[in-house]
Amino acid sequence: MNLADLTRYWGKTRPQQQAIVFGDTSQTWAQVDAITDALARGLAARGVGKGDRVGVMMLNRPELAHVILATLKLGAISVPLNFRLIGKELAPMLVDSAPRVVIVEDELASLLEEGSAAVDFEIFAVGGSAHRRYESLLDVGTAPVVDISADDPAFICYTSGTTGAQKGAVITHRSAIAPGLAQVVAHGISGRDRAMCSAPLVYTGSVLSIFMQLVVVPGATMVLLREFDPEIALDTFEREQVTATTTVPVIWERMTMLPDFGVRKLAKFTFAGAGGAPVSLDLLDFYNDRGVPLTQVYGLTESSGMASSLTYADARTRPGFAGLPLAGTRIRIGDGSVAPGEVGEILVRGEHVMREYWNKPEATTATLVDGWLHTGDLGAQDEGGFLKVVDRSKDMVISGGLNVYPAEIEKALHGIDGLVDLAVIGVVDDRWGEVPMVVFHSDRAAADVVADITDVAGRNLSKYKWPRHALALDEPLPRTFSGKLAKAVLRERFPMAPTAAVPVV
Ligand code: ATP
Repeated sequence: MNLADLTRYWGKTRPQQQAIVFGDTSQTWAQVDAITDALARGLAARGVGKGDRVGVMMLNRPELAHVILATLKLGAISVPLNFRLIGKELAPMLVDSAPRVVIVEDELASLLEEGSAAVDFEIFAVGGSAHRRYESLLDVGTAPVVDISADDPAFICYTSGTTGAQKGAVITHRSAIAPGLAQVVAHGISGRDRAMCSAPLVYTGSVLSIFMQLVVVPGATMVLLREFDPEIALDTFEREQVTATTTVPVIWERMTMLPDFGVRKLAKFTFAGAGGAPVSLDLLDFYNDRGVPLTQVYGLTESSGMASSLTYADARTRPGFAGLPLAGTRIRIGDGSVAPGEVGEILVRGEHVMREYWNKPEATTATLVDGWLHTGDLGAQDEGGFLKVVDRSKDMVISGGLNVYPAEIEKALHGIDGLVDLAVIGVVDDRWGEVPMVVFHSDRAAADVVADITDVAGRNLSKYKWPRHALALDEPLPRTFSGKLAKAVLRERFPMAPTAAVPVV
């Protein structure tokens, strides 16, 4: 099976069913099949062939979905590019992937300037004055027939870079499809589902976990929002009778603030996922109490977005866990010989695991060992095989020979009034080798926050986990485009506690 044939299959077997709903417009599977055939012909005429890369950078709009599917029909590789990056950050991705063509939303085209100075590609702009040139690509007729194997690359998805240089995970047709089939098996996702996508479709979590896995695999309908807004998202749930979606916890969190949630007439959801970070039991309770079966999922770009999920029933007895491996996935801790509950690196195996990092053989060899994906996450499994994600291995602090997990300290400190923007990192210490330091940004007086940190740490954490320094920053903490803390940046800036840091005792 491959994603191109699936698109054609739904075009023929579900011609009248909606494939994409966008605002007041919608397109059937027959229309999407025809448009993507026409676009594939146009791209082929511009020299795009099997294995070539086609970059795509737009805010959500139907053309973005069309470009991706047309690229796949040619056996070419889709490279979703994130418009939240600045030109300097995009340039290395363009040099690395060396696309033949980049299709970009007109108002974002300037972001490509630095990249196009270094590598040669043709640009087509969607929207704006140059839109007609894009439309000239639509060459009505059937797409060229290309032999595509399930193991051919379909996407190069760049990781968000919380751990340093961006790497392009090569996702094959097989690896993009596998978690979709697992969702069909686990939740009964089908052609009747209406999956909402509110985050940019150029993010892995949207393009793979929603568009490919909840829409193209089951031949369902994608309800696409231009951008996320809590009120619009809830309106859309109701108006479009959405039955499936998956997104990061913070988006679910923002929708809980809406006063009229309880009175909405929502459809019965087949699947509602929250992943990318741990979800609190309070948030799971909120949605499950209102009939939305919110489920914690765990995954990473390198595993095509998904690796495990935790049902609500299991979340109630195992709060903080990330669940059981998806059907067809195996998960183990370290070499597999550790006792239940013992922390080690999370390893993942299955058809959904990436083929390699594009152009990075050394990183590939270090990450894919004997078929196991080394996730760089630390975790443990209980007797039942349920996975708990503890922290990223790069974030772990070794203090006096003991492992300290910053995520645990951060969780304890999160309850402090007015302290939402904080990170814990390790800094060099003469006596202990490394000690945790909390870096924060708050509207409150730094001295008051530090007093609270001392108090909360003293009451909730063993002594070796107490942060030994606290550093108040005037500006918000650095984050990656997807909103995750950029701890690598903080570690680089503060290898040791600066003089401005206050000792915490
Ligand atoms: P980079 O790989 O460049 O650092 P990134 O980690 O942000 O970027 P993603 O693939 O988007 O790239 O994020 C996957 C990571 O998110 C996982 O490796 C894990 O650390 C974290 N994560 C995902 N789901 C969960 C979860 N349920 N609980 C805790 N952490 C999670």
